Amino acid sequence: MNVVLAGYNIDADIIEELKKKAGWEKDNVTPETLSAAYARISRDPSDIGEIRKKAQKETDKARKSNETIIFGLGHASVAEHAVFNFDITGISRLAVEEIQKYRLASFTEKSQRYITLDGDFIIPSEIRNSPVENDFKNLIEFQNIVYLKLYDGLKKYFFAKFSEKIKTKGGKTVVEGWAKEDARYVVSLATHSQFGMTANARTLEHMLRRFRASKISEIRELAEKIYMEVHALSPSVIKYTEPSVYDTHREVLVGSKIKNYGDKIIKPEWDQVDTKLRQHTKNPDTVLCASILYTHNEGDFESCIKSANNLTKKMKKDLIKSSLKNRECWDRVERAFEMVEYVYELVVSASNYAQLKRHRMSTQIVQDYDISLKYTVPPSIIETGQTPIFSEVMKRTEHVYDTLKKTYPSCKNYALTNAHRRKVLLKLNARELYHFISLRDDEHAQWDIRETARSMKKLSEEAAPLTSMMLSGKSDFSSCRDKIFGMNIDTAT
Ligand SMILES: Cc1cc2nc3c(=O)[nH]c(=O)nc-3n(C[C@H](O)[C@H](O)[C@H](O)COP(=O)(O)OP(=O)(O)OC[C@H]3O[C@@H](n4cnc5c(N)ncnc54)[C@H](O)[C@@H]3O)c2cc1C
Repeated sequence: MNVVLAGYNIDADIIEELKKKAGWEKDNVTPETLSAAYARISRDPSDIGEIRKKAQKETDKARKSNETIIFGLGHASVAEHAVFNFDITGISRLAVEEIQKYRLASFTEKSQRYITLDGDFIIPSEIRNSPVENDFKNLIEFQNIVYLKLYDGLKKYFFAKFSEKIKTKGGKTVVEGWAKEDARYVVSLATHSQFGMTANARTLEHMLRRFRASKISEIRELAEKIYMEVHALSPSVIKYTEPSVYDTHREVLVGSKIKNYGDKIIKPEWDQVDTKLRQHTKNPDTVLCASILYTHNEGDFESCIKSANNLTKKMKKDLIKSSLKNRECWDRVERAFEMVEYVYELVVSASNYAQLKRHRMSTQIVQDYDISLKYTVPPSIIETGQTPIFSEVMKRTEHVYDTLKKTYPSCKNYALTNAHRRKVLLKLNARELYHFISLRDDEHAQWDIRETARSMKKLSEEAAPLTSMMLSGKSDFSSCRDKIFGMNIDTAT
């Protein structure tokens, strides 16, 4: 066996410095050569190292073969070997939502929980120099003034409430963070953010096609900026970036079809802001047992289901317990848990959604923000008697939102705040649910998403008590494990 480190990503500034020092003028400093080399592996009997060297020497040929193999033969996964990192700054929170929908990319973002906001925001180009520009600016400035006022009040409140904690190491920063995270509910989705993004060429090409079809000009502008950065460097792996007719026309086509259905389409009054479990795998505990039996070669899946049905409740419980035994909170539960699926419907604030969307091993279908779903008021705002000013921000926000909806509908959501809500259809399997609950029903989790996580946990415990037996936040993991396995775990059996 031989393992060779064939490449790794390093800071672009270092690459430029190295090129300068070496007087390097060749155009083979591109991840395309790796894609080209790996693309040839399936047909070229030479050693991979040799194939790679050839690709480095003949960049033009490497590019041509990428085009033939990736785009001609449809062997698109080859483009995944070329990886790019981007610093993205001066972008709105609304745009960030669109970008972070892409599940095969990686993101790390400025947190509004840990950083005091400095009032920077974007004015969408659509409304610049229009009659609504001033209303928009005035609103955002008002939101930002109230943010600072709320932050001040909340800081005093949390410092008094947690006077012992602030004396501990790092305690003051944590408590300040709680004030920041609640004050930010009044700031808008136009607020600036910044994040680091890592994506491979295949994902990037997909993103560019979709971004170029976006109704939001900020997203289209971002597409051009990303394209300018990567196209000259890697033309053969980022090639088809124009939106397809399918992408540009679908929404309008489906929308007009739905309009024709008239009163067949039911519009329910949604007056409850709770979490619902809309669907789940039938007989989930039996399906999990059958899937565990399957991993142990106990017949085909149909016979595994029959065998699982033969087991008593105690036997099923013991089987699942044996699968969970010795697990630490960082251990992923076994893959058999993926055979149990849940579909939840949630009503979440923008602040909650900002965190929810980061869970990539799930399917999330989101509705547009809907002001009829009202808004989320952090309990600390109520406890500090700051609800009137908070409500005043919401009232002014919704007024500007209504104006934008009539005049520049693609920009209406920029005015909305982190407190405004939308519905999300969230599908995930029990394995991802374990991971989600571990992070989000934890003492370090933000309270809003923690409430959602707790409701999801409760609903899954009702639907699938055995599958859910060890669901817990990291902070409750030890007590949960002790409850199931007792204090002295015998790891051998
Ligand atoms: C308390 C807390 C504070 C946070 N603070 C910040 C912050 O300041 N800034 C910020 O940007 N984010 C922050 N996050 C978000 C966090 O970094 C994760 O993005 C988010 O929790 C989703 O978790 P995940 O990536 O593990 O899960 P998922 O995306 O749901 O993925 C599930 C699992 O699949 C695997 N996986 C998924 N994608 C990949 C991949 N591309 N490569 C390798 N493995 C993969 C991993 O095992 C992962 O755990 C915070 C989260 C928490 C809980």
